[in-house]
Amino acid sequence: MIRHHIPGLRRRADPARKHRLRLLVSAALLSGVIVFVISARTEQLPQAAQAAQAEQPQPATQAAEQLQLAPPTIAYLDADEQPAAAPADAPAGNAQVRHYTVQPGDTLSGILDHFGLHKTMRHLLALKKKDRKLLANLRPGRPLELTIRDGALAELIYRPSRIEHIIVSAREDGYALEKRLLPVETREVFASGVIADSLYLAGRKAGLSDKIIIEMGELLGWDIDFVYDIRSGDRFTVLYEESYVHGEKWKDNHITAIEFLNRKKTYRLARYTDAAGKTDYYMENGRRVRKPFLRNPLEFKRVSSHFSNRRLHPVLNKVRPHRGVDYAAKRGTPVRATGDGKIIHRARKGGYGKTVIIRHDRGYSTLYAHLSRYGRGQRVGSFVRQKQVIGYVGSTGLSTGPHLHYEFRVGGVHKNPLTVKLPNSRPLPKSKRPHFRKTTRDIFAKLNLINQAYLASLGEAANNADGADGEPGRP
Ligand SMILES: [Zn+2]
Repeated sequence: MIRHHIPGLRRRADPARKHRLRLLVSAALLSGVIVFVISARTEQLPQAAQAAQAEQPQPATQAAEQLQLAPPTIAYLDADEQPAAAPADAPAGNAQVRHYTVQPGDTLSGILDHFGLHKTMRHLLALKKKDRKLLANLRPGRPLELTIRDGALAELIYRPSRIEHIIVSAREDGYALEKRLLPVETREVFASGVIADSLYLAGRKAGLSDKIIIEMGELLGWDIDFVYDIRSGDRFTVLYEESYVHGEKWKDNHITAIEFLNRKKTYRLARYTDAAGKTDYYMENGRRVRKPFLRNPLEFKRVSSHFSNRRLHPVLNKVRPHRGVDYAAKRGTPVRATGDGKIIHRARKGGYGKTVIIRHDRGYSTLYAHLSRYGRGQRVGSFVRQKQVIGYVGSTGLSTGPHLHYEFRVGGVHKNPLTVKLPNSRPLPKSKRPHFRKTTRDIFAKLNLINQAYLASLGEAANNADGADGEPGRP
């Protein structure tokens, strides 16, 4: 394989160094900006810490902490970011800088009054309409900084987001407004994990944000049912981008690639932008990830949040005979059409309770039962798109508790939704494949490399655990 072409991997043979460090080195060799996010399986964040992390909009990844990537909080304006209007020649003693955090319901004129700048608003009204608009809806929680000189507003800096600065500065003939965007740096990051309970928990453990976990679940969800198909020991590696502002993490961007081992089958997909600039996700063989049918009518987010602290397969006891599949979910969970089609039934249907049936192309139809209510603005005959909400989970009809009963029929014949072979999306046309292969080759090679490094680390972790606390995963 590619192993001996990559110097970084050879370092794995050196037993004297900690595996984590070695992985970092391999990774660094691969790409100057790559960061290895990996948590040893023995390290479990305390629940409280997890919860706290979940509440932070931008949780720092463990890697960022381990590597000290992000410097300590920095002043939001660097020297070179000083607003142009900060007059260097003004006597410093005259100027006062006041800091304020926007409160719910605040208006700019209210804030100016609060600081004794009663006359300023009138001048600000002379700003262009589109500039005034930027100051019209201040976001609660965001910072404002006012420089007051000789009782008048010299400068106002409002930061509606981490990367935007709106600067209002006094000029001879009134005020001028300037909007600045801070430079954003993108870094490529990867994480790997083995599933013990759920992809969600494994993702958290690997330091992934909810956003990335959900994106991963939705992408893999085209092929894998995250309620029924997932097994303990399934493995993932995900490659994604993070944005940094002044060395501080700002947010997660999109996923670049995923490798997922589900039971014995490996799925590898990557984000690809074609020559025409259109971006979508494709499997390594060129098949589009998106398909004519979803595996599962519930959002990954709903399914996973519902059972994130339970064991696998938290579904209701099956009642036999059973011609569909049941998904336990909270009442009111949105139910999505698994494919484009036309609603041909939308009413109570005996033991099914409130039921929607959709007819799709090529003789396919799907049924959704026990709904608490239907999708808005739809009726029999309505055309619905894939992922459109057509109802909400309930327990109408013969049902022991809130759940979705889902059936899949081909040519009127019931098929097991879990095992039925769903139509695939069309592969990339032959003419586009060379570009696809050329563009994604590096990324799949990177996935390989990371995976091998990760597997090696798993092996070491298992050896170091004296066999007492070995990996639950594969040999
Ligand atoms: Zn059922």
